[in-house]
Amino acid sequence: MDFSYRVEKKDGWDCVYISGKINEDSESQLIDMGQHLEKKVIINFSGIKMVNSCGVRAWISFIREAQKSREIQFEECTPEIVSQVNMIPNFLGSAKIKSVYAEYGCEHCGHSAWRIFERGKDLPENSGSISVSDFNCEKCGQKMEMEEIEDEFFGFLQAG
Ligand SMILES: [Zn+2]
Repeated sequence: MDFSYRVEKKDGWDCVYISGKINEDSESQLIDMGQHLEKKVIINFSGIKMVNSCGVRAWISFIREAQKSREIQFEECTPEIVSQVNMIPNFLGSAKIKSVYAEYGCEHCGHSAWRIFERGKDLPENSGSISVSDFNCEKCGQKMEMEEIEDEFFGFLQAG
């Protein structure tokens, strides 16, 4: 599926739901999207299936332009988006992260699941306060482990 987006107005924010792939073909849609956003923007990544390196470049030029006159938040970042943000800080730019999904696996039965961390709830406030509660497998009830090292996964948090 190619890249697409839709915008919903909510409490003075433009909530932008993006989906599909961010790749070399997404550039013109990202430019188009940038021209249709108000001053306060929440970008929801839950529908993004993949990002490649050309897509990352297109995204960085989008965010660089978009953030100039806007307040931007990222919401429901998939594990792939979180790793892009951690590897390439320009992917986030000056945007703030509102919520992320982490992938968890159960060693006991092999089940895997995504768990959401939300700012103001269970997302650590800064990199000095990372302590996440246990998460039990919905299949067998055993404790699940995050697939990434917690300190690395939460690398996007500010030091504090
Ligand atoms: Zn299990």
